[in-house]
Amino acid sequence: MATVLVTGGAGYIGSHACKALAGAGHKPVAYDNLSRGHAQAVRWGPLEEGDILDQARLEAVLARHRPDAVMHFAALAYVAESVADPAIYYRNNAQGVLSLLEAMRAKGVDRLVFSSSCATYGAPSTTPIREDAPQAPINPYGASKLMGERMIADYVAAYGLRAVAMRYFNAAGADPDGEIGEAHDPETHLIPLLLDAAATGGRFTIFGDDYPTADGSCVRDYVHVADLAHAHVLACERLDALADLTAYNLGAGQGASNFEVLDAVRRRTGCAIEADVGPRRPGDPAVLTADPTRAMRELGWTPRLSTLDDIIDTAWRWRKQSAPAAATSG
Ligand code: UDP
Repeated sequence: MATVLVTGGAGYIGSHACKALAGAGHKPVAYDNLSRGHAQAVRWGPLEEGDILDQARLEAVLARHRPDAVMHFAALAYVAESVADPAIYYRNNAQGVLSLLEAMRAKGVDRLVFSSSCATYGAPSTTPIREDAPQAPINPYGASKLMGERMIADYVAAYGLRAVAMRYFNAAGADPDGEIGEAHDPETHLIPLLLDAAATGGRFTIFGDDYPTADGSCVRDYVHVADLAHAHVLACERLDALADLTAYNLGAGQGASNFEVLDAVRRRTGCAIEADVGPRRPGDPAVLTADPTRAMRELGWTPRLSTLDDIIDTAWRWRKQSAPAAATSG
């Protein structure tokens, strides 16, 4: 049994990672400033309130719990927000990694699972994307995550840190037991917004239908949050076998266009959703799909719940129980 500090443990992916760690017999300690996370999502271990930029507080928490490893989720993750306000992305996501790395070095904690992103690849020339594809981000969010990876790689080389970078594609869905789910405010992600529209009868806008794809809308690779969480536990347990910073692409390995996701949400919820087409959203690449072969081969990872149907069904169930009035009015 390991103790694992989970920064961002009150957030969407972090809280699912805490549940997965506890399910595998480990002890998660959540560290979160609750600016975007929710205290009620911390159910599988203690919550330590604190900011990722507060290195002294991080050091105190590391000294108190003496974790065997850290999973680092505490970050901002909206592409459009990063384009409008890059400063907060470089501060939280890049400077935040440095703050964490220095706190870990000061306290002798030398294992790290880093929450990275397919946004580090930018607009790749070929898909599905392998881990050795060039990293050339096209928005500040992706750039801030790439800076994190670079710092971690240098700490691995210089200070003997053991680390993995988990490059997620589109995290979606909710805990299959219905205990936790996605609750962003404001919500900007495709599937929860479609479920809002299904529940409330509101309109939905597809951002762009003139991309070079089969139906003109963007294509993304949706991976179930419980599958992502499980991959983090597997990676954490494998850290000691890795010499260099190792990256894993975490996606289902297949893409769905925005129109396909719209159709699937209509079908699974049984709700008519009125949709129109608006302009492209700045910073959106046309197609992002993963080649998850390395994670499957080296970690023994199988994305079991990463079908659109399972993703939508678990997210819809969560949506109905967390906002029952709205969810039943549509
Ligand atoms: N999207 C959309 N309408 C919305 C929100 C998102 O058409 O109201 C599109 C977005 O442009 C992208 C896809 O849905 O092509 C996935 O976006 P999301 O924000 O969920 O994830 P991202 O790919 O940015 O991480």
